[in-house]
Order: sequence, then C-alpha cells, then structure tokens
Amino acid sequence: MISLVIPCYNEEETVEIFYREVNRIWETGVCPEELEFVYIDDGSRDGTLQILRRLSEQDPRVHYVSFSRNFGKEAALYAGLQHAHGDFVATMDVDLQDPPSLLPEMYRTVTQEDYDCVATYRETRKGEPVIRSLFAKCFYRIINRISQTEIVDGARDYRFMSRKMVDAILADGEYNRFSKGIYSWVGFRTKWLSYENIERSAGTSKWSFWKLFKYSVEGILAYSTVPLSVVSILGIFFCLVAFVALCVVVGRALIFGDPVAGWPSLVSIIVFLGGIQLLCLGIVGLYISKIYLETKKRQIYIVRESR
Ligand code: UDP
Ligand code: MG
Repeated sequence: MISLVIPCYNEEETVEIFYREVNRIWETGVCPEELEFVYIDDGSRDGTLQILRRLSEQDPRVHYVSFSRNFGKEAALYAGLQHAHGDFVATMDVDLQDPPSLLPEMYRTVTQEDYDCVATYRETRKGEPVIRSLFAKCFYRIINRISQTEIVDGARDYRFMSRKMVDAILADGEYNRFSKGIYSWVGFRTKWLSYENIERSAGTSKWSFWKLFKYSVEGILAYSTVPLSVVSILGIFFCLVAFVALCVVVGRALIFGDPVAGWPSLVSIIVFLGGIQLLCLGIVGLYISKIYLETKKRQIYIVRESR
C-alpha cells in the first residue's frame, strides 16, 4: 500500500480537486498498489475539516488527523508520517503543485531500482516573486557553506519513501523540525527528479515572507553550529586589534610624549564593539532558546479529531 501524506491549512478549495485528480490517475491502472490518503488538517479555520469528514465517510481509504490549532507544516508532515500505514509513503502538497502523475514513476524507481527514496526539486522558480527567489538563493548558498548536511536548492517536500526511511525519520523525535535537513541527515539512497514550477490549482500560498524567513533561520540553527564559531573568531579578532592598538598608543606616548586626543573616535569604537557583542550574544541566545524548547519536550502537535 502507498500512503499519501497531505498537509492542509485552509485548503477548502483544493482538498477535493486533489482527491479527484489522484483517483483519476489511479483508475487508469498505472500502479498496482493500493492507496491510502492521510490528510492532516493543520488547524484550518475554513471548511477544510468538513470536506475531510465527508470524504472519509464516502471512502474508507481516506483518513484525516485534525490539529487543535495551526502547528505548521513541519508538525503536519510528522503527524502524517506517524499515521501512515503504507509500505511506501509519499508526502505532497494539496494544491497540485506536486504532480501526482509522477507517483507511478516514483513507485517503480523505489521498487525496481535500488533506491529508498525519490525526491523532487524545482528547476526554476518561475512565477515566484523576485525578492523571494533572491532570498531563497542566498539561504541555500549560506546553509550549504556552513552545514555538513546537504540541503538541495529548490528541493520540494514532495517525496516518495520506503518504510525503512520513514521509520528512520520518525525515530528522530526532535522538537525543532526542519524536514529538508532530516531527510538528508538520515541518508539512504535518494534519486532526484525535477519538474517545472506549477501554479497552484486554487487558493493562495500559505507561506508569508516572514514565515519563510523564520523557517530559514530554523534550518540554519538546526543544521549548523558555524555561527557559534564565527562568534568566537570575531572575539579573538577584536582582542588582537585591541592589543595592537594598545601597543601603538603606549609606544607613541613613550617615544613622542603625545597622548592620543579625540574622544569621538573612542566613542564610535566603543559603540561598534558594543554592537558586535550584542549581536554575538544574540546568536548564542538563539541556540540556547533551541535547547530550551528541546528540553521542554513539548508535544509537536495536538490532535483534536482523527479518523
Ligand atoms: N501548510 C500547512 N500548514 C501551514 C502552511 C502550509 O499544512 O502552516 C500546507 C498547505 O496547506 C499546502 C502545503 O503546506 O498543502 C504547501 O503550502 P503552500 O502551497 O501554501 O506553499 P507554497 O507552495 O506556496 O510554498
Ligand atoms: Mg503550494
């Protein structure tokens, strides 16, 4: 059986379109495997849940897990993987930006070739705001420089995985979840497929710029400690500069008897160093906050209703 894990947040317009499209493909008999739909309602405030209830009453293959509030897509994916029973699991968006027509090919790759996972990436960011693509490019460049775990540029959350890989991902019970990193961290043999960026079938994107920005910081904190090393290196650098400056000032006073004048320069240096110190403290603080949240062992999501 293949389980489809589908996170939905305010997706009343797309849930049913998705369901019909997948069924249309399956009815042609391209894939012998049974299907199971695992919809995750990530605290939607519109009619998503009602539609899911109705679908699951009509069709026993449709299951859903509804959260008590919006916990974010990462939590939804985790819940979906936990509730999926299939021998294979595919995670995909409900807006048909992840074409279900690729599923049979993914299935063949995993069963017939020696792969555990088929992942996808977008070739282009066509149809996306320019600033957003620019920031995304920067993010991938930075994180791949400073992290040992490879995060592929343009990688989508559309994946087809074997049971082995899903279990490995579930065993990683981190609270601060960044799937793109976890997938890569657990390893396994992954084949990459690419496809063109497709417009949403209906509705609007649920990711604001600010949400994406926080998500990227999350990724860097979770998969790299290089910012902490940068902080230490900055500290050493400024100590050296201070030492050299001190020697110059003392030397000049001894040789020329000429005390350095000018407090404006002094003030700017102090303010500058104060700024650097606060920045460094902030970076350290971010890591501590992650430790704090991790040690609290809060639930990743809370189920209000499921079926
Ligand atoms: N999503 C979610 N929780 C959120 C935000 C998004 O479950 O807090 C789901 C959403 O319903 C969709 C998928 O994640 O199925 C991708 O979201 P979207 O299409 O809005 O993102 P984009 O394709 O614009 O990156
Ligand atoms: Mg989308």
